[in-house]
Amino acid sequence: MYINCHGDDFEDTELCILHNQLPNGNNLPYFDKIVELKEEAIRDKIEKNDFNFEHTNLFEVNFEGLHIEGNINFAGSYIYKDVNFENSHIMGDVIFDGSQIEGDVNFNLSQISGYVSFSRNYEISKISNIKGNVSIKGANINGGIFLREVNISGDIKFDNTDLGFVLRLDEAKIGGDVWFTSSNTGNFVDFSKITIEKNLYFDHSKIGRFASFTAAKIGLNVNFNSTFIENDLDFVGVKIGGSANFNDANKYANSLFKNVKSPIFKVSFNC
Ligand SMILES: [Zn+2]
Repeated sequence: MYINCHGDDFEDTELCILHNQLPNGNNLPYFDKIVELKEEAIRDKIEKNDFNFEHTNLFEVNFEGLHIEGNINFAGSYIYKDVNFENSHIMGDVIFDGSQIEGDVNFNLSQISGYVSFSRNYEISKISNIKGNVSIKGANINGGIFLREVNISGDIKFDNTDLGFVLRLDEAKIGGDVWFTSSNTGNFVDFSKITIEKNLYFDHSKIGRFASFTAAKIGLNVNFNSTFIENDLDFVGVKIGGSANFNDANKYANSLFKNVKSPIFKVSFNC
């Protein structure tokens, strides 16, 4: 029994259908039945405007096109497949802190009044794991994105996205590329101690007032071509496996490029 869970116990367990784990995938007819019951229970909760899915075990989260007045909480949840918020309108926060997602995460074209978070869940001391890719294209997220200490096996692709306030990926581990192109970070960017296995792209984006990449590790190339950098960009102690490219980046204040370890470092600011 979970605190704040109002679901009835499922069969002879002491948990509701949403908090029960998914059965072993080999047990197919039973697995399909459980998935169906979980989907039904999610629809029931949505109808009752109950968006507390903390610690649930779900097959997938498909909230495509939904309009929700308030926060949605999936903290500590397990999701067997994808998380989809494409085209959704959320008038609050979307919280996935300390969750395990086996598939992809999609926030394309979403409009979110609050923030979106996949950070460490300090309450249960658990980081978030995303096995697939994260896609946030053409979205508008007023409160920004928190991906602190997240572990993502694939790529993160932001494109044409506006973050009103903050972009935090401090201590995140990314298996693929990080794309933040033709987008707006908001005022506060923290990529300190991030590990990116492949490339980092900030091309044609606008970076707000405070941006830290301190002690970031990037396996391949770093690209800030035609990036609009409003203020300080802290690149102290960054390790880059490939080249660092800052062609036609605007620079309005001191950038700190101390102790950068990169085989090729090309900076041609246009002040
Ligand atoms: Zn429950």
